[in-house]
Amino acid sequence: MLHAGGPAIVQNAAMKRHRPTAPVLCPCGLNTPYAECCGLWHAGKIAPDAEKLMRSRYVAYVMNLKDYIYSTWHPSTRPVTDLDVNGDGKLSAAKFIGLTVLTHIRTTADTATVEFIARYKSGGRAFRMHETSRFVFEHSRWWYIDGEVSDH
Ligand SMILES: [Zn+2]
Repeated sequence: MLHAGGPAIVQNAAMKRHRPTAPVLCPCGLNTPYAECCGLWHAGKIAPDAEKLMRSRYVAYVMNLKDYIYSTWHPSTRPVTDLDVNGDGKLSAAKFIGLTVLTHIRTTADTATVEFIARYKSGGRAFRMHETSRFVFEHSRWWYIDGEVSDH
């Protein structure tokens, strides 16, 4: 189960029983409640910079928000095939367990890169994905272009 423990589900379950006593922290790694962090961008506000967009896309993978992944992907590089490669309604078979943003560089006025390490589990094993993602600012918002995965 990729997203059984996702924050939205946890929060909804908690609210049915009783009022939540503590905010659910955003999975993106910032010590911030989800609703005041990536939840804002998931709800439709425009992420103000490439790093926040990248974090919110990571959380979208955690929470299996396929529409958000598509809508933040630049049309020039957005996959035309369904991201649900396994046909099970999930974006990924991996269970993402942590994100560390290493650098966020504004490479030009309209472009930026974000280098990060995402940790995940798959088939009972833990993995690290070290990627540098490219973003472009267009039509008053940031878009994900593509990413280059490092071997180390
Ligand atoms: Zn967040």
